Amino acid sequence: MRKKGMMVILSAPSGCGKDTVFREISKIRDDVCESVSATTRQPRDGEKNGVNYFFITAEKFEDMIEKNEFLEYACYNRCYYGTPAKAAMEMVNSGKICFLIIERKGAQKVMKNCPDAVSIFLMPPDMETLEKRLKKRNTDSDEQILNRLKIAEDEIKSSSVFDYVVVNNELEKAVDEINTILIEELEKRNA
Ligand code: 5GP
Repeated sequence: MRKKGMMVILSAPSGCGKDTVFREISKIRDDVCESVSATTRQPRDGEKNGVNYFFITAEKFEDMIEKNEFLEYACYNRCYYGTPAKAAMEMVNSGKICFLIIERKGAQKVMKNCPDAVSIFLMPPDMETLEKRLKKRNTDSDEQILNRLKIAEDEIKSSSVFDYVVVNNELEKAVDEINTILIEELEKRNA
């Protein structure tokens, strides 16, 4: 019998390193993949359409909402972000561990609509470290960084709704912890 796949929600305040954590996990596991989200925000330097995101207009995004094409979507920092449902479900059905790397409101929608999904909140060690990481990234204006920090405080307050909370202090340790969660959750599903 084919191994069952699963959906993993990985949520964290912006700048907490969730993409890096995912990259490291995909180096040690060949059964993980990432859902590519659609967004209306502008691409940053080096970001590619269809790889980092599908960069689309608000009009197209709203058309996809109308057609019920999103598993979830949310408005974050004045832009839309959403998970195309079809591709994510196809990955899970083919036995993959499909990561949704999304913000808190969208994460909560997936928890409600897909109760089988495993939810993980990646916690920054503290707010000072988060601020330093956002500034070092050099991709947002001071105003946007402040806004992202405000959203982060809110997100941290509701971290208890997630199945697991992992602190991203040392990358290797956080990756190890998440891999242990994946192993245990897969065992439950394939028992
Ligand atoms: P960024 O602009 O830094 O790429 O992303 C901003 C936030 O939106 C991050 O927390 C990121 O995880 C989240 N995000 C990315 N894609 C999605 C999505 O499809 N749905 C939701 N709800 N959030 C997303």
